[in-house]
Amino acid sequence: MANLLILSLILSLLITTYPPWTNALPTDITNRIRTDPNAIREASSDYGNLVHHVPSAVLYPSSINDIVELIKASCYNHSAPFTIAARGRGHSVRGQAMAGGGVVVEMAALSRNGGGIRVSWSPSLGYYADVGGEEMWADVLRVGLEHGLAPVSWTDYLYLTVGGTLSNAGISGQTFRHGPQISNVLELDVVTGKGELITCSRNKNSELFFGALGGLGQLGIITRARIVLDKAPARGFDVILEELNFVPGLIFRRDVPIVDFLNRVGNLGGGREEVEAHAHPWLNLFIPKSRIHDFYDGVLENMVPRLRKTPGLFIFYPLNTKKWDSRMSAVTPDEDVFYNVGFLHSGGVNEADVFEVFNSEVLGFCEKAGIKVKQYLPYHKSREEWIKHFGSKWSIFQQRKMKFDPKMIYHQDRGFSIRSVAV
Ligand SMILES: Cc1cc2nc3c(=O)[nH]c(=O)nc-3n(C[C@H](O)[C@H](O)[C@H](O)COP(=O)(O)OP(=O)(O)OC[C@H]3O[C@@H](n4cnc5c(N)ncnc54)[C@H](O)[C@@H]3O)c2cc1C
Repeated sequence: MANLLILSLILSLLITTYPPWTNALPTDITNRIRTDPNAIREASSDYGNLVHHVPSAVLYPSSINDIVELIKASCYNHSAPFTIAARGRGHSVRGQAMAGGGVVVEMAALSRNGGGIRVSWSPSLGYYADVGGEEMWADVLRVGLEHGLAPVSWTDYLYLTVGGTLSNAGISGQTFRHGPQISNVLELDVVTGKGELITCSRNKNSELFFGALGGLGQLGIITRARIVLDKAPARGFDVILEELNFVPGLIFRRDVPIVDFLNRVGNLGGGREEVEAHAHPWLNLFIPKSRIHDFYDGVLENMVPRLRKTPGLFIFYPLNTKKWDSRMSAVTPDEDVFYNVGFLHSGGVNEADVFEVFNSEVLGFCEKAGIKVKQYLPYHKSREEWIKHFGSKWSIFQQRKMKFDPKMIYHQDRGFSIRSVAV
């Protein structure tokens, strides 16, 4: 009995051992920091189940101020700043929302199941919604529809967070029409790496606005986005075919109510056991139109049939550059039209290697054939690869990083050293 008591005392001491920097925080925020195995395990996992970077602590913020205080604690930490990453719902596949040794901010803690979504109208802006960065697109749709309204740009899957997709781009088969989600945002609130909460738009603090959209969470945490709304179409096909050319007779159509169309993938959130048993070594590529036939011949015709595993789901659709704003951090090929190809591999954790080899062979083929693809939801292993990824945007990205996160607090474990981003 005495032994058991000692053991539980030791365990509880271990579990409540907070990193020293928490001393600089007000008690009500310290109370929202967890270091227990469950919190750490969740924050070091994502949908990909390929990498697990272990943070030293997890913040469950009750307000935006909690995030601001955390950033300041990092900035002024006497030894060195600790790294921080926002975690939407962890739908990344390669640890993009992790912070090895640092602190993960679980944005879901701010969520009020749609309570953070406010629909408004103004003569100059029309209909829009102010949405917490932690909210999911499924809830934006639900609340919008209560007003007969809906966002104009979507992802194919709705259980992703607004802050998470705006940090990438937010694309779907309908993006050719209104552009990616980042093209349909009017204003943002962002907590920068200096711990400043800044409101920004195309005309106000525009550098932060353009930088944060598609900025991979590297300039700040998006705590609010003002999203363009329009009258919700009643059915799925009201949107889709209007602007597309197609061969008559080659339409395969199933017309459904708009909610069924937008929510066609449903909610894939499985239990912990299911999540831990599966890996998702996804590869999403943007391919310039001029080389799509070469890509088809080399990859789809030649390499895919040799992939002896169940291939999972592949998605493929065209996108047009004119609907993207080149001032934003998101990167696209240097052509008017490009195609998104998503190899959404799925398999047991032990099978991941097969898909990883396939993915690197695809990238290797493109490199050798001179097909200038860009990765969507990018993951690169070296500084050189990041420079190549950003291309002509690299220097502006660096400048923005130095301006809004000079201490390199926002870091994502993407296989490169934090310092390599800006040096
Ligand atoms: C099943 C599934 C379907 C998908 N479908 C699509 C699709 O149709 N279209 C598409 O574009 N993408 C799609 N994705 C990819 C998805 O957009 C990305 O995974 C993205 O990361 C959003 O997921 P999340 O909200 O869980 O964010 P997380 O994965 O948790 O975070 C993503 C990145 O954003 C950062 N981040 C999170 N919240 C914030 C915030 N508030 N402010 C600043 N940075 C933040 C994180 O640090 C990380 O770098 C899909 C992913 C999955 C798993």
